[in-house]
Amino acid sequence: MDEGKRCPWCKEEIGLWAVIKAAWPTMIKCPACGSKLTYEIRLGRFLLTQVLPAGLVMAFLSYAFSYLILKKTAVNPLWFALLFFVILWSLFEFIIAVYWRKNKKLKILI
Ligand SMILES: [Zn+2]
Repeated sequence: MDEGKRCPWCKEEIGLWAVIKAAWPTMIKCPACGSKLTYEIRLGRFLLTQVLPAGLVMAFLSYAFSYLILKKTAVNPLWFALLFFVILWSLFEFIIAVYWRKNKKLKILI
């Protein structure tokens, strides 16, 4: 099933990076023809059930982890927590992109 990997307009493989670099799930752009694409997902439900809980858990883990590492130093753990959060968030986006490419269907955004 390639419906999540190929552009419905030009039938070219859009690649993983096109999904990851999209700032929003409805802002995917086909690298071959430039069509604006989106996955057939319920955006509100996705934000509430996955993005929000995952973001809160990652924020907590980032701060807890950096606090534990840096508590005996003079370094502000907030900067390290921010860096750690960005790393976790990138991993989250990567996993979501792989999952969508495999299980969801792309459609052209009008
Ligand atoms: Zn295309």
